[in-house]
Amino acid sequence: MECRLDNYTCRKVAWLALVALTVSSGVNAQNPDARRWPVHSTDRPRPPVIQPGPAGPLVPPPSDAVLLFDGRDLAGWSRQDGSPARWTVSDGSVEIAPGTGDIISRRSFGDMQLHIEWAAPAVVRGEGQGRGNSGIFLGRYYELQVLDSYRNDTYADGQAGAMYGQTPPLVNAMRPPGEWNTFDVVFHRPRFNADGSLARPARLAAWHNGVLIHDNTEFTGRTVHMREAEYSPHPDRQPILLQDHGDRVRYRSIWVRELE
Ligand code: MG
Repeated sequence: MECRLDNYTCRKVAWLALVALTVSSGVNAQNPDARRWPVHSTDRPRPPVIQPGPAGPLVPPPSDAVLLFDGRDLAGWSRQDGSPARWTVSDGSVEIAPGTGDIISRRSFGDMQLHIEWAAPAVVRGEGQGRGNSGIFLGRYYELQVLDSYRNDTYADGQAGAMYGQTPPLVNAMRPPGEWNTFDVVFHRPRFNADGSLARPARLAAWHNGVLIHDNTEFTGRTVHMREAEYSPHPDRQPILLQDHGDRVRYRSIWVRELE
């Protein structure tokens, strides 16, 4: 491009344009790493296995949190059709009753901090995706994978803590079957324009057993099985969905701090 100003000004304009381009492309980056590998590629490197510290007592909610499960009942949850949730509550936790379906929180949330604890079945059955599978769907459509990833090989973008089908966790910080794991999450919902087009992707920071597994990473769309993710518009505030994938995963101490 020809520049009609003096040499110094021309260089300055070019430099500012480059900075503006770099900043704007950073804001609009579509998580290129998630697109670098085919969905569920078995060639994709597995995250390094690390040992988290030992499991502690459950983490209680702070005073400004919305408590979604207090260990006593599922009043804060329903099935997707609004009928009562049929998972099994005992000993301060709730266990998936396979075949009774996913459950959703009765309250809806936009941007949020979420704390949730979960345990894979102590008796190991199955392998790969068929072992201790569940999922926490933030904003209803964006799955943070729950899986028994303890010495259980499966594709990288389906590990415990994966943004399912998109981005593996930075590390595998899984505790052994039957032990309690924690997820701590900061989720920013996607923004849509008035015409339904995407203004800003959803973003996730997450910690598994206190260890960082996602550092402000973008979802490339709704998480789906075996397909490239895409966005389609939905309400700003959405329930949290817990997945019934047929395995008896347990949950406890589920609370949210609203950030919006
Ligand atoms: Mg799942």
